[in-house]
Amino acid sequence: MGSTGSPSGMDKEDINNIAQKKSTKDPDEFSQYLIDRMHQLEEHNIRLKEETRKVESEKKFAESQKVKYEREVRRLRSEIERMKAPPLLVGTVMEELDGERVLIKSSAGPNFVVNISTFISKDEIYPGAQVALNQQSLAVVNVLPAPKDPLVHGMEIIETPTVSYADIGGLDAQIEEIKEAVELPLIAPERFEAVGVEPPKGVLLIGPPGTGKTMLAKAVANETKATFIRIVGSELVQKYIGEGARLVREIFVMAREKSPSIIFIDELDAVGARRIDTGTSGDREVQRTLMQLLAEMDGFDPRGNVKLMAATNRHDILDPALLRPGRFDRIITVPIPSFEARIEILKLHSRKMKIAPGINFERMAALTPDATGADLKAITMEAGMFAVREERDVVEWSDFERAIEKVMKSTRPSLESRNSGGVMFA
Ligand code: ATP
Repeated sequence: MGSTGSPSGMDKEDINNIAQKKSTKDPDEFSQYLIDRMHQLEEHNIRLKEETRKVESEKKFAESQKVKYEREVRRLRSEIERMKAPPLLVGTVMEELDGERVLIKSSAGPNFVVNISTFISKDEIYPGAQVALNQQSLAVVNVLPAPKDPLVHGMEIIETPTVSYADIGGLDAQIEEIKEAVELPLIAPERFEAVGVEPPKGVLLIGPPGTGKTMLAKAVANETKATFIRIVGSELVQKYIGEGARLVREIFVMAREKSPSIIFIDELDAVGARRIDTGTSGDREVQRTLMQLLAEMDGFDPRGNVKLMAATNRHDILDPALLRPGRFDRIITVPIPSFEARIEILKLHSRKMKIAPGINFERMAALTPDATGADLKAITMEAGMFAVREERDVVEWSDFERAIEKVMKSTRPSLESRNSGGVMFA
């Protein structure tokens, strides 16, 4: 059909065709021609309508794209503006003056009396609050959250430990004592109130390395569902003066915020060693940290829901001030496991292993005098490793024998120094 160019679907050629057909003598042929032509035009009309619909939907899509890109341009422009904005100064509120103005100490040094933005609620402004200041007018434009040391936050063990009392072998008496001194004041402080006694403020676990002190602390945190904050004493020894003391302060603030909580200081001797008069500036910094720890211990309520536990292998070098009543006033000794305790620990650590029938744990305990809980755990693990190496599914007595020899040999030097009271360094 030669009619595609005209909007009506008809062009000059068409009109000529019609004139030609009309001039033929046969009227039937002419009417048939007209009917065919009408059908053709109807089809053409349908196609055009379809095309119009398509073009209109494309137009709508292009318009929505345009809106989207305009929005993106606006967002990027505002981001550029934001990036170009001058930095704000940090200051600390010293005193509220008349509700509209405050006395601030700027980080640059001097104190200023400045205005507060009306968008800031009056409750947010208090002495000590950290605020952001406009560079030119020094007006308070924002209140900053209290500074928190990432180191302190890293100390919180987010997931409550999974260790339970049932995983600890041979320390039943110690568990009882901890329950009474730490767990009970946390879960039933009213029982102490009723009798009118104060529970111990801090519990100190003493004993050789690897005897389960950390395990005990984890188990209490698990059983009481308390936040467990674990600090290693040496982490509190910092490079700059006053930093260690600040960390201690922030740890106690965090413990109160997240209460009920248990603060557990491992290797307490790193900060708690006896104070001496003559010392290097490093020693004095450690002493400052210790004094802050003592001050915090004095400041908190023993019936409150923050409990303090610590562990050390060297309680003999601890400062007496730490051990006086009202501080670490409950000392729990975690000894090297006895024969019976060794059997229990060995059984605990091999309960998930596939072991050959008839394995004699009493004999194993007899072969491991002086072994600590950690040594016994290592023995069961090594025995398992021997079985794996030899591609067996079951751990046999010979595996245990070889593991005992391997582990006890490697720990022998440390055992000797432990037994002979050999020189140890704080
Ligand atoms: P350190 O003084 O060196 O910190 P620690 O006394 O805190 O040592 P833990 O970390 O509690 O020792 O114990 C080390 C590992 O030894 C534990 O993970 C545990 O598997 C095992 N262990 C120690 N004592 C026991 C015990 N009584 N029952 C079961 N396992 C124990």
